[in-house]
Parts: sequence; structure tokens; C-alpha cells
Amino acid sequence: MLTNIWWIRRDLRLADNLALNEARKGAGALVPLFILDPHLLKQPAPSRKAFLFEGLRRLDEDLQRMGNRLVVRSGDPLDVLRQLVAESGAQRIYAVEDYSPYALQRDEHIGRVLPLTLQPGVTVRHPASVAKPDGSPYTVYTPFSKAWKALTLTAGNSTLETLPAPEYLPGSIPLDSESLPEDEPPELFPAGEAEARRRLEHFCEDLIYAYAEDRNRLDLEGTSALSPYLRFGMLSPRQALNAALESRVSAGDPQALKGVDTWINELVWREFYIAILYHFPHVLKTAFNPSLRNVPWRDAPQDLQAWKAGLTGYPVVDAGMRQLAGTGWMHNRARMIVASFLVKDLLVNWQDGERWFMQSLVDGDPAANNGGWQWTAGVGTDAAPYFRIFNPVLQGIKFDPSGSYVRRWVPELVKVPEKWIHRPWEMPQEAQLAVGFKPGKDYPLPIVDHALARQRVLEAYKRAAKG
Ligand code: FAD
Repeated sequence: MLTNIWWIRRDLRLADNLALNEARKGAGALVPLFILDPHLLKQPAPSRKAFLFEGLRRLDEDLQRMGNRLVVRSGDPLDVLRQLVAESGAQRIYAVEDYSPYALQRDEHIGRVLPLTLQPGVTVRHPASVAKPDGSPYTVYTPFSKAWKALTLTAGNSTLETLPAPEYLPGSIPLDSESLPEDEPPELFPAGEAEARRRLEHFCEDLIYAYAEDRNRLDLEGTSALSPYLRFGMLSPRQALNAALESRVSAGDPQALKGVDTWINELVWREFYIAILYHFPHVLKTAFNPSLRNVPWRDAPQDLQAWKAGLTGYPVVDAGMRQLAGTGWMHNRARMIVASFLVKDLLVNWQDGERWFMQSLVDGDPAANNGGWQWTAGVGTDAAPYFRIFNPVLQGIKFDPSGSYVRRWVPELVKVPEKWIHRPWEMPQEAQLAVGFKPGKDYPLPIVDHALARQRVLEAYKRAAKG
């Protein structure tokens, strides 16, 4: 009897899963396996791990409905796989290829010792397949996205066809399985493939058409909130792209069309950063731009702490940081604002922020997170120029005009009128008395003066760039 192992990593789904599809072909038995790898689990990321474990429980329920079950084992992946091959008599191991430096090295090593077959699925396009005519990788988003679209969005492109969930699975074999840790899963992100599909349908029915205007508004729910699901493959990027392409067909006007195309561009940003990390793994350790590797960062543990706690005195920054602490997720515009604040206003190394995000985010992903931080710090591949510095007050006024995002996450400011909500320290005395709010007592004064900080960071970057 042919027995195969489906080694699940970041593909927690039955539908559109090429590894599962290959593993079940002609097999009499299938072993769906998840390895609790101590190297990955030692990272402090409670909400992400809880989301992952919850997702595995949902996947196990789906597998059990089909007469199979998830096998969970902990240990070094090579040791676990060797042991399981011996116990089950499996002939092959199938997995979805992952492109992080750790995953590439791990799989290369295991592939030399065991019959491991990798299938695509973390991205729509393999990162190496989108290259310049001379074969070198793109390091700028726009030409990357043009090449990506030219390869992907051609009429009748069969690589875009998604696979339905299988109707039946080969049977299981009796094998010991460990239980998954029982951590508290993040409330706003119920894990699992069914929830991912529901969110995708909901977004693509309606919200996607207003995405071009609404995606930057902190006070609206204008984005898909699918990032944790894409992170762990509860949804394939191909399913996301296909749903968007279907919405495109029904887009009634140019604005709606723009919404769909803008969302597709975000999926391409995801692929771009995955490709950057694939080709330039050193970005996890240092700035992509060599001339900006030696910015004289401040060692400012108290400022870093105030930033993490959402106590900087800048309402929109604090709201973002508290949304992160409270939910494990943050709006993209808020991510850019808080990242800019840490790096530019506080002159704290972007890598401190990158680390904190990786600890806190349900969707924390080395490629997207590193890309986002290097972009905001202005030190990355296709980065904002370093002299572009967000003004946290103006960003608040523009993207949270009535202050409802701030009031939701920073309750101390509930009574502050709209006029002062993004700069409460400027409230005149009468206004303070009228609503019973005292800046500095009820809410911190700004920990830094933005205008001075702006000069400070410009000088620091200039000095670094000069060498
Ligand atoms: P939507 O706006 O609905 O976009 C759809 C999908 O496209 C997202 O789910 C995501 O998978 C992808 N996407 C969107 N924007 C980006 C982007 N700029 N880069 C890469 N992929 C993108 N995203 C992560 O998934 N994980 C991270 O760890 C992460 N860290 C970030 C750190 C910083 C400093 C910044 C500025 C951005 C970061 N992002 C990260 C990108 C982006 O903020 C999130 O993907 C987005 O906010 C998720 O919300 P959504 O699912 O509603 O996105």
C-alpha cells in the first residue's frame, strides 16, 4: 500500500493545496503531519502561535470528518520525519515550499536525506520566476509588479485555476499524536479555512470596490483583514487573487475597478517582499541599502517602552500600538505611522520595531514585516526616501478625521473634542475645563517634539549616508 506524508507548515487548508493533492494521488494511506519545531516555537509570539494552534484544531476537525486525522509531533523536523517514515512506512513526504531563509535551509537539508517533494502554494508565482530579462531579481516594486502581472494575468492562464477541496482522503494509520498547546486564540481572528473563505467572500462582494478610497482610513473597516489567514495558508494567495478577478468582472464603474486593482497590487506587494527575502536573505539582519547601515540610532529604552505601551503622547501612534496590543493586528496605515514615529521621531533602530511587531502580530511574517520596516525607515529595496517623515498629527487628521479610531483605542481621550483629538496638548485651558481633561495628567504630553525630531533624524541619516 502506498503511504504518503503531507507535511503541513503554512498551508492549513484542504482546498487549493498542491502538496495535499500530490500526497493523496494513488495513496492507500495519508499521514497529515504537523511538527512542533522548537526552533520556531521558541519565538515569543503568543497570539500568532495561538492562532496557528487553533487553525490546526480546525484542520483536524475537517480531516476527521473525512475519516483521517492530524498527527502532531514535536522535535527537530528531520528527526521527527525519519521516525515517522519508519513508523508508517511512508514512501514520500509532500509539503508546500516556503521561502524564508530558515525554511529553505531546512528543506534543502531534509531533501538530501528523505524523499521530500515540494509544491508551490505560498505565493501565486515562485519568487525566482519573476526576474529581469538578464535573470537578476527585481529590487523595485513597480517593474516587479509589471513583470508579475504579465506572467500571471494573461487570459486563459491555467496556473490560476484553483483546486477544490478533495472529496475523499486516503485513510489514516494508527500513530501516536501529541496534543496541541491550549493557548488563548485572538478573539477577532477565528482560525480556519471556513472563516478565511467567509471573509474573502464578504470582502470581495462589496468592500473591495471602495478599497482604493477606504483602505487608508483608520476609522473604517475598509481592508480585508485576511493577513493572518494568508500568513498560515488557511487561504491560498491564488484563491484570493481569483476572487478579486471575479469581482473585477462585476465592477460597475472605474472607481470600483480601481478598488479591485489596488487590492490586487497589495497581493503583489506580498509576493514582492517574499521574493526580496528569497533573493536577499541578509535583509533579516541588516538594511538592504548599504549606505544606511550605520545610522547613529539612539539607545533609548524608555522611549521604546513608551512606544510599545502606546504612551507617546501622540494619539494616533498610541491608538495603533494599543490596537496591536489588544488584538494582535494593526491597520496598515497605522503600521506606517507608528513605524515612522519609532524610527524618525524617536531615532530608534527600525530593527527594535521589527522585533516587537514579530512578537505581537497575528500575521507577523518575516518577509512582509521586514519589508514594511525597511520601507518606512527608508533603508530598504524600494523604500520611501529617508527624508519623507510622517507628521503624526497631520496623519491623524487626514486618516482619522473625526478621531473615532483614537477614541476607540485610547479611552483617556474620549472627552477630547474633534478639533484637538490629534494634538490634545494644544487644548486651551477653557476647553480643558469644559470637558474635564488635563493634558499631562489624564494623558501623556508628547515624549518628543516632532519639529526638533525631524531635524535630528535628517542629520543622522545624512551623516550615515556620507559614511
Ligand atoms: P489588505 O489591505 O486587505 O491587503 C490584502 C493582503 O495583501 C494582506 O492580507 C496581506 O497579505 C497583503 N498585503 C497588504 N499590504 C501589504 C504590504 N504592504 N506588504 C506585504 N503584504 C501586504 N503584513 C503581513 O502580512 N505581516 C506582517 O508582519 C506585516 N508587517 C508590516 C510591518 C510594517 C511596518 C508595515 C508598514 C506593514 C506590514 N505588513 C505586514 C503589511 C500590511 O500592513 C498588512 O499586510 C495589512 O495591514 C494586513 O491587513 P489586511 O489583511 O486587511 O490587508
